[in-house]
Formats: sequence, C-alpha cells, structure tokens
Amino acid sequence: EYKTMSKEQIMKIRRQNCNPVTMKITYYKKPLFIHQGYMQWLWDVDGRRYLDLFAGVATVSVGHCHPKLTAAAVKQLKRLWHTTNIYVHPTLHEYCEKLASHLPDPLKVIYLTNSGSEANDLAMLMARLHTGNFDIISFRGSYHGGTQQTMGLTSNSPYKYPISTSSGCTHIMCPDVFRGVWGGSHCRDSPVQTIRECSCAQGHCMANEKYIGQLKEAFSTSLPSRIAAFFGEPIQGMGGAVQYPKNFFKDTYKLVRERGGICIADEVQTGFGRTGTHFWGFQGYDVIPDVVTMAKGIGNGFPIGAVVTTPEIAASFAKAYHFNTFGGSPIACAVASSVLDIIKEDGLQQNSLNVGTYLLKELAKLRDKYEIIGDVRGKGLQIGVEMVKDKASREPLSPEAMSEIFEDIKDMGVLIGKGGVYGQTFRIQPPMCITNEDVDFFLAVFNKAIHNYMERK
Ligand code: PMP
Repeated sequence: EYKTMSKEQIMKIRRQNCNPVTMKITYYKKPLFIHQGYMQWLWDVDGRRYLDLFAGVATVSVGHCHPKLTAAAVKQLKRLWHTTNIYVHPTLHEYCEKLASHLPDPLKVIYLTNSGSEANDLAMLMARLHTGNFDIISFRGSYHGGTQQTMGLTSNSPYKYPISTSSGCTHIMCPDVFRGVWGGSHCRDSPVQTIRECSCAQGHCMANEKYIGQLKEAFSTSLPSRIAAFFGEPIQGMGGAVQYPKNFFKDTYKLVRERGGICIADEVQTGFGRTGTHFWGFQGYDVIPDVVTMAKGIGNGFPIGAVVTTPEIAASFAKAYHFNTFGGSPIACAVASSVLDIIKEDGLQQNSLNVGTYLLKELAKLRDKYEIIGDVRGKGLQIGVEMVKDKASREPLSPEAMSEIFEDIKDMGVLIGKGGVYGQTFRIQPPMCITNEDVDFFLAVFNKAIHNYMERK
C-alpha cells in the first residue's frame, strides 16, 4: 500500500483547494487513487492493478515510466533544466531536426509550446497573420483547447463558458457517418466495415457530397468570401473517435484554399503513430496540411506541444517576437526526442496497427452480438465504441447506463474513456505498447460488463 494521506484527506483537499469542476469529472463514482504506472499498467494506492486503455486521454504514447524514457529524462535533469530560448542549447536543435524528419515537405518549421491549447492558439494566430483573413472553420463536436481563443474553436458545450470567446469561428456539421444525417461506414477508410446501409452510390460517395454541400452552404451564408483557416482533427478525440468520409479532408482543403485559407490538422490525439497505418492522422486522408499542431503523445505525459508549419507561413509570423518561457525547454526536448526514438525502436506504430486492427475486428463481433453496441470505429489505437438504446433508433445510451458499464469495467481492472456529444461513446486510446493478450483481457471484461448490464435491465 502506498503510504500517504488517507483517501478521505485527499478528497477533503480536493473539495477545498482544487478546481471544483474537476470533482464532477473525476470520472468514476468511486474515484481512482492512482499512484504508480508502468507501461500499460497503473496501480492504485491499495496496490490494485489496472490495464490502462485510456492513457490519460491518449497522452501516454510509449508507456508509463518507460525505462528508456525515464533514463533520458533523468540524464537531462542532471545536466540542464532551463535557459529560456534566448540561448542556444543543443537539445532543442537535435529535437527539431528529428521531429521535422517525421513530417512531409514543406512542413519543416517548428514552434514548441507546453500544451495543445497553446499550440492551437498559436496556429490560429498564424493563420490570421498569414492570410490576412479572420474567419476560421472547425467541426461541431470538436475539441481544440480551453484557452479563450481555442474555446471559440472548440465545439463541445460542456467546455464553453458564457463569455465572448474567440469571435470569427464557425462550426460546420461534423461529417459523422454514424450519427450524422448522411452515410454509413463504407464511407470511411476503416479496417472494419461496420454499418451495412450506406448512401454511397457505386464509386461515388453520397455522404461526402452531402457534407461538402453543407460546407459550401456555410460559405454562402455564414462566412465572408475569404477565410483564414480550417481546423480538423483527423479522427475526433473528445467527439468519440468520429471518422469522416474518405475524401472529406481532400475536398475541404481544396475549397478552403480557394478562399484564401490554410488547412490545419490537429494531431494532438492522432499523431505519433497512433492510427497505425501512418505516423500522422492526416496522411490517412492523403492530404498535406499547411500547419500541424501536436501535444499529448509527443511527450508521453511530459508537458510539451508543437506547431509545425511551412517556411512561407513562418515568414508571415515573423512580424513580431514570439516568446515562450518554457516552450522547448531542455527537459521537454530530451523527453520528446526519446519518445520519437522509442516509437521507432519498439515498433509502436506497427503495434498500433496490429493490435488496434485485432481489437477493432473483435469489437465488431461484439457489436453484432449486442443490440446496445451501435458502432465500432477508428484506426490503429484510436478507437470508439458508440453505445445506443437499440440499433434501429440509434438513440444514445443514457449517461446513467454508460456510467454503470464504465464503472463495472473499472471494477474488473480496466480503464477506458468516454466521449461523444452525448457521452455515448467508449474511447480506447491506450499506450501504444499494449498486446493482443491485453486486448483479450479487455474483451472478456467488456463482454462481461455488457452482459451484467443486460441482466440488470
Ligand atoms: N486538441 C485536441 C484534439 C485535444 O484532444 C486536446 C485536449 N483534449 C487539445 C487540443 C488541447 O490540449 P491541452 O489539453 O494540452 O491544452
């Protein structure tokens, strides 16, 4: 047992001294008191082990306390923590060169931040400065950050305050082929074909056409003739692993560029090999963005974020000094550099593909077995399981029912996430080192939790 203050004391402090809203999202009715982690495992203060399939919201990319990463961090801790980037320190340069080598041309100029919100905030500013335009488009259901600017970009009601956030953000309909008004899973570039009905005519995707149609309508109704940017997560994270029709990004990028805007991929959750087939989520749609933002998995839990762009956009952004005290600190760079090495050495992108595809296929079997599993989707280890009251209505499973199943899964030793506009989607975004045996354990637990719920009903 972890010898620290009692759980009662911790909860008392939490109530008195911590952000009170986080009490509501402590995730479980019986909160988890986590004190240790190793690779895909977490231990609570009573010594109970959990299989972590949520990775602190898709953040722990290579594994909790990965020994090589810990060694790299400790080495840097002993050498140099901080200078602020007014001096030149090699770790930043070594890292920037390494990160740039993972991106296609002309994405080669890197700005280091401390978080995803900060990265997206910076990308918004860059887009406006570079294009001279103001309006930005993002998807309904998206999450891009919680700063005042990125809150305007985010379209997820619980994260919105009733104040003037960023103006000039327009949210278009999310081309969600399960819950949206058009589509079926044939529209997606997914290893598992899920829903059988689809409005695709042969060789031509109706859903894509319809969703692009509503984007064009927004251009004619809500937006000025010229725009600054389109922001899109390649697979929505908080929105519940929503994937889009195959050509949606390609067609949108074209329309946005025609109107003077740039295209920004938010890879905060999908980057660093998580989608398996590619290192970046956008590569799955065969597009090259003008700006890529990243955070979370970039540092395996250490605070670091990045904006990567083209020399041309970087030149437009050079009109004033951009200063960030902690961005690109020696420790952050040493950690992030080691993360890139480990992804390669441990074959984690390939593992995401292999284990993720196995999990998707097995989940698809459960979807066929249970009336309350409406959709199974995702790529690699960015997976969503959308729960419904029944397949015919596709009405979201109630928050109470979701909680019951969720809590039961935790009590059986597995941690997953929740998401979706109605909180109806279970999210599986584990450290990328999980194995097929872990998947089998989770499947047994998930199966049992659903079975238990059906029994109680
Ligand atoms: N973009 C996406 C896609 C995210 O999921 C998040 C965080 N959930 C952010 C941006 C914001 O990142 P941070 O919390 O590091 O500010």
